[in-house]
Amino acid sequence: MATSLTAARQLTLYAAREADEGRRVDMEAGMSKLFASETAMQIALNAVRIHGGYGYSTEFDVERYFRDAPLMIVGEGTNEIQRNVIASQLVKRGGLDG
Ligand SMILES: Cc1cc2nc3c(=O)[nH]c(=O)nc-3n(C[C@H](O)[C@H](O)[C@H](O)COP(=O)(O)OP(=O)(O)OC[C@H]3O[C@@H](n4cnc5c(N)ncnc54)[C@H](O)[C@@H]3O)c2cc1C
Repeated sequence: MATSLTAARQLTLYAAREADEGRRVDMEAGMSKLFASETAMQIALNAVRIHGGYGYSTEFDVERYFRDAPLMIVGEGTNEIQRNVIASQLVKRGGLDG
């Protein structure tokens, strides 16, 4: 979970750095939103599993994270649309290193 979270943060920082350099970051922003939100979903699910019954109880924050995570994969442009953006940018740029 920590490894995935770190990877999500690094991808997001990479997109932010590219934007700071004045470059268009349609693909980079799409990748970071897609990866970070899917990671949030997976981490929240794992956290519920770790907490067992308590993961379902409102006494613990983890229950709230598990309810909030699905919004991240739908809100601010669904992840299906992010995938379309990434694919069209890959074609336009001739691949990752284009
Ligand atoms: C609680 C909430 C908060 C939101 N907040 C924001 C916000 O702050 N800012 C913002 O801009 N938007 C926000 N949205 C909108 C959100 O980002 C989606 O754009 C919107 O929910 C999608 O429209 P729809 O619900 O009509 O789904 P539809 O457009 O009917 O899509 C249904 C499903 O089909 C998929 N789909 C649709 N078209 C394609 C396609 N061409 N290729 C592949 N898959 C496709 C979608 O990804 C989705 O999974 C929010 C949505 C919700 C539910």
